Amino acid sequence: MAPSFMHEVIDVVDAKKVKEMVAKKSSQLMGSMSGSGKMPPHKHCRICHEAIPIKSDPRICKNQECIEQNRKDEKNQKTVRIAMFVFFGIFAVPYVLVLVTGILG
Ligand SMILES: [Zn+2]
Repeated sequence: MAPSFMHEVIDVVDAKKVKEMVAKKSSQLMGSMSGSGKMPPHKHCRICHEAIPIKSDPRICKNQECIEQNRKDEKNQKTVRIAMFVFFGIFAVPYVLVLVTGILG
């Protein structure tokens, strides 16, 4: 008898605690939402995700590290593009040669 009764009491207390906690959390959330007000349209830096003006181009903040990182990324993209082009060429040249020799032969 006693243990199950105790269990019920604990359950009630826990439920109350949980309810209180949820209320606290939600009020905190509401407070932070109303406190910041309406956010103007903005973008985020692609490196550090800092909020930046929507007109920012390239899509990075004024942080020197981000500028540097962006430059490196652009360089990498260029390198990848060239590598793909070369790779394609390696496969395309024999194909074209076979095609041409087929036509000539
Ligand atoms: Zn940044």
